[in-house]
Amino acid sequence: MTLFSSFSSYSANFQTIAGLYFHTTQTFYFENTIFECFEPSLMAKEIKKIGVLTSGGDAPGMNAAVRAVVRASIYYGIEVYGIYRGYDGLINDKMEELHVRSVSNILSRGGTFLLSARSEAFRTKEGRAKAYENFKARELDALVVIGGDGSFTGADIFSQEYDVPVIGIPGTIDNDLAGTDYTIGFDTACNTAREAIDKIRDTASSHDRLFFIEVMGRDAGFIAVNSAIGGGAVAMIVPEHNWSIDQLIKRLRKGAANQKASNVVIIAEGCKLGNAYDVAAKVKEQLDYFDIRVTVLGHLQRGGSPTTMDRVLASRLGVAAVEGLRDGQSKVMVGVINNRITYTPIGEAIKTVKRLDDDEFRIAKILSI
Ligand code: ATP
Repeated sequence: MTLFSSFSSYSANFQTIAGLYFHTTQTFYFENTIFECFEPSLMAKEIKKIGVLTSGGDAPGMNAAVRAVVRASIYYGIEVYGIYRGYDGLINDKMEELHVRSVSNILSRGGTFLLSARSEAFRTKEGRAKAYENFKARELDALVVIGGDGSFTGADIFSQEYDVPVIGIPGTIDNDLAGTDYTIGFDTACNTAREAIDKIRDTASSHDRLFFIEVMGRDAGFIAVNSAIGGGAVAMIVPEHNWSIDQLIKRLRKGAANQKASNVVIIAEGCKLGNAYDVAAKVKEQLDYFDIRVTVLGHLQRGGSPTTMDRVLASRLGVAAVEGLRDGQSKVMVGVINNRITYTPIGEAIKTVKRLDDDEFRIAKILSI
């Protein structure tokens, strides 16, 4: 694991707690939030058949997670059904049994072979009732949902309405879920963005240009921060912070005074100052001597073969999801904190806001001179 941890200051607590997790009921602290972790019920119903789906925005590594769920299930003698197009597949009964060889050669592929969807029907009571009819008719005992916070909100509601065991696997490039240091797809997205930044820097430094590069992140700046530090950006602007144009101008002027040859500014798409074009126009008004260009990376960041880190993370989480269900876990999201598998109540994972690490901004500022 080489990416910057937002939770490093909590490592001592987590290591102790993760080690004791399966033996006792625990209360632990996470970014000022208390999570209650309960010992799995010894009376839990035996899991013989499960369904797995991918939902919301696709993320590189989702295939690796499905593969791990399928193979771990079969390893433990559990039948596993792949549900196509997220919750829509559950509502429309689009599912089929998956076997060991059904998931051959998908480890290295981006996207999701189960396909994904944003299902409006699942947001309705009627839609979820249809989904439950099919769940029962297929004699499924539990559901594994791979997706982001929206998908987990749906899973939480479904599980409460019909007392269905569900377990979530965090699959989103945004890394905006509490209860895990990293989500599946985040590392690949950061590497894709950083690779693009490296290439843009080559041309920026050949022409003394100032580039504004917009990366994904409507509500969270994790991709922006990591790709900016990795790509040596002079500044990064994220949705969580209230950076002003004046602060940015000050930073750019300082660099110019220090003979900085090329400047790259990373902007998360949801930043409060506007999109990359808006920010570039505002900077141009005050620093007309800069030759300014804008690049929006867009969906490029969602695609591509998952990095080793994402494949390993997805494999660990997929196996842990199946093992969690076998142990009676339900309504939890499986994650990795300080390199240990953890199960966080799904409601807490959704509700808790995962914060950026302020120290990364301090580091970026020091290195931008
Ligand atoms: P990403 O983080 O990549 O956007 P996501 O899982 O957050 O992924 P969403 O589009 O927010 O993506 O949610 C995926 C699906 O989850 C929705 O299309 C819907 O089917 C279901 N869902 C989201 N919120 C709810 C809700 N309140 N009730 C029922 N279902 C929901």
